[in-house]
Amino acid sequence: MGVDLLFVNGVVLPAAADGGWRRAEALAVGGGRVVALGPAEELQALADGRTRIVDLQGRALLPGFIDAHTHLISEGLKETGFYLDLSTAGSLGELLERVREAVRRRGPGAWVLGRGWDEARWPEPERRLPTREDLDDLAPQSPVALVRVDGHILVANTQALRHVPPDVPEDEVDPVRGQLRERAAWALLRRLKPPLDELIDAVGAAQRRAHALGVTAVHDVVSSREQLRAYARLKRLGRLTLRVRLNPVVELLDALVEAGLETGFGDAWLHLGAIKLFADGSIGARNAAFGEPYADEPASRGKLNYPQDELDRLVKEAREAGFPLMIHAIGDRAIEAALTALERAGVMPEDRARIEHFELPTEGQLEKAAELGVVASMQPNFVRWSGPGGLYERRLGPERDRRIDPHRRVVDAKIPLAFGSDMMPFGPLYGVHCAVNAPHPDQRLSVEEALNAYTRGAAYAGFQEHELGSLEPGKWADLVVLSDDPTRCPPEALKDLRVVETYVAGRRVFPL
Ligand SMILES: [Zn+2]
Repeated sequence: MGVDLLFVNGVVLPAAADGGWRRAEALAVGGGRVVALGPAEELQALADGRTRIVDLQGRALLPGFIDAHTHLISEGLKETGFYLDLSTAGSLGELLERVREAVRRRGPGAWVLGRGWDEARWPEPERRLPTREDLDDLAPQSPVALVRVDGHILVANTQALRHVPPDVPEDEVDPVRGQLRERAAWALLRRLKPPLDELIDAVGAAQRRAHALGVTAVHDVVSSREQLRAYARLKRLGRLTLRVRLNPVVELLDALVEAGLETGFGDAWLHLGAIKLFADGSIGARNAAFGEPYADEPASRGKLNYPQDELDRLVKEAREAGFPLMIHAIGDRAIEAALTALERAGVMPEDRARIEHFELPTEGQLEKAAELGVVASMQPNFVRWSGPGGLYERRLGPERDRRIDPHRRVVDAKIPLAFGSDMMPFGPLYGVHCAVNAPHPDQRLSVEEALNAYTRGAAYAGFQEHELGSLEPGKWADLVVLSDDPTRCPPEALKDLRVVETYVAGRRVFPL
């Protein structure tokens, strides 16, 4: 095979299963795939007149990052302006000011949809959710709906509450405070669909950001037919440069079955993955389900989204329809429900069922997960809410805070680990930094372990370890060039690493 690209004069970190992070000096790419890696002079012999030589100037070349849990469209819709981006609001006052400005700009009666604030990081005394009243004051005539960073709670004003469908679960709506949780929130959002063109632009925008962050593949959660269509259209237009494994929410299962589709349908660029189910909510919204009450709300242990028999039924249905499972479960009570449902459905290690977040597993649950071959799909960036004075400590108390997000114990229990960002925020390098420099010992990983979870581990979670996740001859040449060797730089310097270039199938996608 001819060599199209030859990377020389750098540090190639292949992340292969055998040989691990042993370095090579050069890497040859042909036909979009890795041809060989080794000493530069050996590989030079493979080059001919057509070969483009890339001088890495001592930088590090790694397999492209695979983010195992994304919501690209929500993120992209912030860039297209469909959502007002509130992720950088530093206080309640600032959030309300931005909403006021958007209401004024869009004119009376127009919807204002905001997204992404995190009140846990605001200063006291106004470290609280906005309320219906706050929003009514600044928008008496326009519907306003704001979604918290975790997507599990939405605050609406009186005008917006009028649009909530009547059939949503009653206990998920608090009309006084204007709060909608889980399915009630999603039901409202589904009514406010952006047009297909805007969804396509949103995927395009998110894809550009992904590449700038060194991401070459994602496992994306899709919640509507329109979202599936946006990906299909982008691909048909020849504009998809990111590999996307689509994980449809369980509400789409009937439609998929009806169409005769199952997991794997598609190709190396775009294909169907697992069915996504939510067993509980989030810690921020206090609806993640724990065995013990919340430290800052002793009357509540959170909430399971389904009674056990219904979760069992949905898991069984998805599995029988030919889909692997991807179950969102944060609290120990939700993890128990998820593991129980998976076991009752007869899930085997080869099914690679996934539990998303897996934040507070008990000792017994770690053992059970290992036995069932469950993949822990975790978000190392979530440890930013852990540690003294953090959101997790306030919500759960110091004892549970020390046990939360136990990446170390997951790796030690031989549970396959995949990392993803859940867009809070997007960016694998930040996640690697978080896992390495985490506040508690049970959370900490070595740089190599963290990188594995964002490459090989995520590839395994997506049944793609033969094609992606490491730099070995025959695999896709999905690559990222980093400003420095992450395995050699001091842990505190990880946060200063930069993505210099990103390639997918041997084609440069960042910078363009
Ligand atoms: Zn998510």
